[in-house]
Amino acid sequence: MTARIRPDLADIPAYVPGRSFPGAIKLASNETTAGPLPSIAAAIAEAVAGANRYPDNGSVALREALGAALGVSVDRIATGCGSVNLCQELVQATAGPGDEVIFAWRSFEAYPVVTRVAGATPVPVPLTADHGHDLDAMAAAVTDRTRLIFVCNPNNPTGRTLTAAEIERFLDAVPSHVVVALDEAYFEYVRPGDDAGEQVPDGIALAAGRPNVVVLRTFSKAYGLAGLRVGYAVADPAIITAIGKVHTPFAVSVVAQAAAIASLDAAAELLARTDAVVAERARVRDALIAAGYDVPASNGNFVWLPLGEKSAAYGEASAAAGVLVRPYGADGVRVTIGDPAENDTFLAFATDAGREVLGSA
Ligand code: PMP
Repeated sequence: MTARIRPDLADIPAYVPGRSFPGAIKLASNETTAGPLPSIAAAIAEAVAGANRYPDNGSVALREALGAALGVSVDRIATGCGSVNLCQELVQATAGPGDEVIFAWRSFEAYPVVTRVAGATPVPVPLTADHGHDLDAMAAAVTDRTRLIFVCNPNNPTGRTLTAAEIERFLDAVPSHVVVALDEAYFEYVRPGDDAGEQVPDGIALAAGRPNVVVLRTFSKAYGLAGLRVGYAVADPAIITAIGKVHTPFAVSVVAQAAAIASLDAAAELLARTDAVVAERARVRDALIAAGYDVPASNGNFVWLPLGEKSAAYGEASAAAGVLVRPYGADGVRVTIGDPAENDTFLAFATDAGREVLGSA
């Protein structure tokens, strides 16, 4: 007898992470190239000594540190094993069979997966022709069954960013019983200017007075702790309590909690690193545009190349040239911004062999 597995799982694709192989330049998973600062490595080593004990399930010290950094009370903060864990828990806390979860598409690949695993129905709303959220269409997609809406800002993988005014208008249009998750995994890379508007859109400020709005952030990107898995949610205490009910016990390890606290202590230094990424992002984008690519404005630590049917071949050719990028179906290729040498290697491919892939039939 084979084991009896939920039949609907057969059609749900498992999350597929970016590839890696030894020696490759990995620009496929929006990580940081720089490793942990010495102070953070020391905190990790110290925490390892306590690895025989379970972690604090409530991450109280980390939530206190986050609360102080963000100006938010601790009862409005939840932590998770990466923010993807919080995406999953939010779906579990809000939606079940017959319920609908709206998100833009293309966006973060985990949204449809976690929705379907919860037995709920994904409602993907196509991006606009210029690769941004179509908020009017997303608001129009709300039905009596809608329980949760993910808004990914900046959008992974396209990098396009909604302004604070656009988000506010959307939040006004959505019924207040529908939970809206503002996924700000790339918040620290956003700069005022062409796409983001005059002021950086800050979900925590936008959520003030709106008990249905949840902000998701992570230590995986600007804070450089992707391998340790820590993310957090900021929301009304009622939502935080609901997340606690579906929470996997001890999901954030002792090492991850200690590293995240040490990262907050080193925030000034870590956030200064994002300036280098932002400068490289502009350099890479300008070079690609000069080479004839269409590259939407991005506020993430990545750029998006809408290459359509050529995306898979382009990803293969780039891998063959030693640079792993991330193709997405027949939509495009996402390229993480690495350090200057890594970016130069990618640009050398993009402006030569990469162009050949695109030129071929
Ligand atoms: N949200 C978005 C938009 C992302 O791009 C990612 C990572 N790719 C995540 C959430 C999850 O990040 P983590 O689980 O590492 O915090």
